Amino acid sequence: MAEKIIAYRFDQVDQTLSQLNKENCLIMAGGTDLMVLHKSRRGVPPKIQKPIIFIDHLSELKRMYKNGKDLHIGACCTYSELLEAPLIPLPLKKAIKTIAAPAIRNRGTLGGNICNASPAGDTLPLLYVYNAKLVLRSVSGDRIVAISDFIQGVRRVDRGSNEILAEIILPSVLEEGAYVVFEKVGNRNADAIAKVGFAGYIRTNGEVIKDIRFAFGAVGPTMVRSVDMEKKLIGKTIPLADADIAQVLSAFDKIIKPIDDQRSTARYRKTVALNLLRYFLSSKQYQHN
Ligand SMILES: Cc1cc2nc3c(=O)[nH]c(=O)nc-3n(C[C@H](O)[C@H](O)[C@H](O)COP(=O)(O)OP(=O)(O)OC[C@H]3O[C@@H](n4cnc5c(N)ncnc54)[C@H](O)[C@@H]3O)c2cc1C
Repeated sequence: MAEKIIAYRFDQVDQTLSQLNKENCLIMAGGTDLMVLHKSRRGVPPKIQKPIIFIDHLSELKRMYKNGKDLHIGACCTYSELLEAPLIPLPLKKAIKTIAAPAIRNRGTLGGNICNASPAGDTLPLLYVYNAKLVLRSVSGDRIVAISDFIQGVRRVDRGSNEILAEIILPSVLEEGAYVVFEKVGNRNADAIAKVGFAGYIRTNGEVIKDIRFAFGAVGPTMVRSVDMEKKLIGKTIPLADADIAQVLSAFDKIIKPIDDQRSTARYRKTVALNLLRYFLSSKQYQHN
């Protein structure tokens, strides 16, 4: 006989949060990671030890709005919804277009990609260079945490069992003047998990670098970023001197520690990651996008 699974689907976020405060539940948004994690043999129902709580239908978690120059994105916006939204920056849309195929993009959510905390999560390198902040909501109110603090390891996040990720904030993303790139290297252009992901962000005043950020995915347990290295480039002029580029590459040669797995080798990953970084830093001109 099939095992009984308790599932909740409340109409309001408040009711959802009250239940989470009473009982440790498995939060299900699009379910595209969770159903893979709990997959069972054909005809055998999945074994899920905790009650499930569905959140993907909650309209409060699907809002997108501007707040000054900041962009707020509801955690339960699906990829397809984000692709349709005029407010979403083009580099994020570019990253989303590389994720899976339309059926998964109709279900998978941005919040799910973050909370799943896979090193190969495609939106993560970009969210790191956007300095994304996350709004964690519980019956006690909201707490805001930087994405780099929230993601602590492979599938390990700083989330209390009574909290949901409600919103992703991209600070100052609606300000003009930054050039942002996203690159994913996989076996094919879509429906492939990343061997390496890269995001770069640069803001200049004339030829002087005012802000620069870069992050790698799939080359370590979490996204690889070094704010200290970035700070060393602020105030320099573009095109960067070969010596400056060499210094950054040499630092990342030590910081990046990929692994061999079924998708790629550590050596390939490191070579590609450093090539992407070199390409980004060597540009003679960065056009705002
Ligand atoms: C065939 C296939 C291809 C895929 N291809 C890609 C790909 O190319 N790139 C890529 O990055 N990913 C890919 N994925 C993974 C997946 O689609 C994404 O990570 C997606 O964003 C997960 O979102 P979801 O809403 O389905 O998450 P779910 O499966 O519902 O949840 C994932 C995790 O996050 C938690 N969670 C979800 N939302 C919240 C919230 N708001 N608050 C608190 N906790 C939450 C859940 O409890 C769970 O632990 C693929 C998956 C499949 C099945």
